[in-house]
Amino acid sequence: MSKITTALVIGGGVAGPVAAMALRRAGIDAAVYEAYPTTADGIGGSLAIAPNGLAALGTIAAEDAVLAVARPISRMAMAVGTRRFLTQPGLPGLPPLQLLWRADLHHVLHDRAVAQGIPITHGKRLVDAEETTSGITARFADGSHASADVLIGADGIHSTVRTLIDPDAPGPDYTGLLGFEAITGYEVPAEPDTITFVFGKRGYYLYRPRPGGGTEWGANLPQDRPMSLAEARQVPAADWLGILGEAYAEDVPGHQLIQHTSADRLQVLGSLRIMPSLPHWHRGRMVLVGDAAHAPSNTSGQGASLAIESAVQLARCLRDLPAAPSAFAAYERLRRPRVEQIAAGAARVNRAKAPGPVARVLMPLLMPIVMKTVMAPERALAPVQRYTIDWDEPVTAAH
Ligand SMILES: Cc1cc2nc3c(=O)[nH]c(=O)nc-3n(C[C@H](O)[C@H](O)[C@H](O)COP(=O)(O)OP(=O)(O)OC[C@H]3O[C@@H](n4cnc5c(N)ncnc54)[C@H](O)[C@@H]3O)c2cc1C
Repeated sequence: MSKITTALVIGGGVAGPVAAMALRRAGIDAAVYEAYPTTADGIGGSLAIAPNGLAALGTIAAEDAVLAVARPISRMAMAVGTRRFLTQPGLPGLPPLQLLWRADLHHVLHDRAVAQGIPITHGKRLVDAEETTSGITARFADGSHASADVLIGADGIHSTVRTLIDPDAPGPDYTGLLGFEAITGYEVPAEPDTITFVFGKRGYYLYRPRPGGGTEWGANLPQDRPMSLAEARQVPAADWLGILGEAYAEDVPGHQLIQHTSADRLQVLGSLRIMPSLPHWHRGRMVLVGDAAHAPSNTSGQGASLAIESAVQLARCLRDLPAAPSAFAAYERLRRPRVEQIAAGAARVNRAKAPGPVARVLMPLLMPIVMKTVMAPERALAPVQRYTIDWDEPVTAAH
């Protein structure tokens, strides 16, 4: 294979547009193909961009555009039952965590990529790909096709590219939790710009004061059976509020927040899923990036940030190494240990989000993690949040 000059990027979420912009900076022409007919208007709740994600956005000059639609979270608190611990306001020298709507992040990245001249075509659902000695051809559900030197699967947790790379690849695991987010006029006695994570009596939830009044809250409701987003949304929101009200009946302020929420302000997010470790991240001219390769639990607050980091690192590898196999191998070496370590840490906390008796057994395991974060935030958070990418440093095959 000769030097890579063109790429097909499948998926126009977060990793896709970032990969395309980073590839462009690396001198590689990328075109993005997104299955949905439009951008993600109103789909998905809020997500966090951590300082490491923001730093990675800086390498493609998209940091300011994202900051313009984000809200800083300068403090975090954790509560186990009624015991609340206020953590330090972020790590010294780093910007605070940024909170934004998933749809806004998609919009900003889409617009930034288009402004740089990157073609993003909607309504193109990849169904198959065919490799030749000189390139790869993507086939879309509408019968059209496109070709390039490499194909990058940025197609999210239910990735099609993943099964094209390895038909036996594992799919996402269900965490045993359903996600909900809501806005209410109810006021909680909490510091502004603070997010509080609560391990309640029978379930986990979080809340944050809303600028201008009221509170935003989210809940991870334990449920044995997974539900697709469509299935969960068929249940009327008022019924979900009743179910949540019962599950959080003994929690303060969880119960009050639910009671004061109207059905039209509840957003149902469906099953929360994570990716297990994948045996293969790449094959031939195809490679995975973002949630398609490594979706940690939402507990980590790192899903989007790791997706952005991986997209930038993949572009560096394709810039510096002579052919797809060596570039993809270097990329996997750079990324796999980091993303799997973060996913494993989040999975430990995630298990404590289970209902009553299980949580009580797991709480002794959780407490040291909470205390470590509260007492020594630098040691607990620095390896994740102080990570930066040196764009100019050449990647070598031995890296
Ligand atoms: C519906 C939904 C809701 C979410 N809500 C939250 C949330 O509330 N909080 C949170 O922290 N994270 C949420 N996430 C996850 C978060 O968006 C990701 O962790 C992060 O955006 C990683 O980005 P990504 O680009 O890898 O994946 P995504 O942002 O999921 O992007 C993948 C893109 O690929 C497209 N795609 C999929 N299959 C194909 C195909 N065959 N052909 C072409 N395009 C395809 C999808 O339509 C999507 O636009 C949500 C994800 C989804 C899918």
